[in-house]
Amino acid sequence: MHVDEKKIKSDNLLNSVKVVLVGTTHPGNIGATARAMKNMGILDLALVEPKEFPSDVATFRSKAAKDILEKASVHRSLAEAISECELVVGTSARGRTVPWPVLNPREAAEEMHKSSLNGKVAIVFGREDRGLTNEELGLCNFHVHIPSDPEYSSLNLSQAVQILAYEIRLSYLQDRHVNKEYWDVELANNEQTERLINHMDELMQEVDFYDVENPRKLLVRVRRFFKRSKIDVMEANIFRGLFATIQKKLK
Ligand code: SAH
Repeated sequence: MHVDEKKIKSDNLLNSVKVVLVGTTHPGNIGATARAMKNMGILDLALVEPKEFPSDVATFRSKAAKDILEKASVHRSLAEAISECELVVGTSARGRTVPWPVLNPREAAEEMHKSSLNGKVAIVFGREDRGLTNEELGLCNFHVHIPSDPEYSSLNLSQAVQILAYEIRLSYLQDRHVNKEYWDVELANNEQTERLINHMDELMQEVDFYDVENPRKLLVRVRRFFKRSKIDVMEANIFRGLFATIQKKLK
């Protein structure tokens, strides 16, 4: 059955999603990404240190999505590109050493849909040759893996974007099936959560909680805890207030 979009109560899922491409080498992939996004009604594109942009090749490959390229923001780091986002989803073509919660594209779109009621959500894509670094993946709340054949798991960048954008659109069209999550306090955005994690690290170092020369996986585990718990602004302030009070007592 054809879905009449006008009949569906409009929400802001499509407007809330920001697609972030990190370190893209081939400008053609940036253009193809813009097209893949616009076909699905997603318009906000952010580029982190693209190798070549603006580019005629990107413009050519974008077809009728040139406006997305013109409005795209360019950033020097992933942290900067996602600072205001309350939910950040990282894509990965393979498993990593410290496991993060991993969802498939459909589950990821649903999570983004729920969070879009509160604020901006980002979906982050990596470099053509080596994907996202562990540090970049550590900035994300959860990861999404397209269940490709393990023998050859890595898709072309813009095709991975297309799959995620399509699932986001499907979730948007099936709006009524999403259990909207009400929360009384605004969720902490990426920048606020990063400050909290850094503050905790500062305190742990002040009390010699771990060997700075050999932190092993401690910091990654602390980071994973805060990232997956969707902490709100008030909770973050309680922790930071506690850390600051302990630091004051120590002096
Ligand atoms: N060799 C790289 C693959 C990079 S593919 C690696 O092992 O990480 C370029 C980008 O396309 C990835 O960073 C990711 O954003 C996306 N991508 C490709 N295949 C994917 C998959 N199966 N699941 C999720 N994202 C994928």
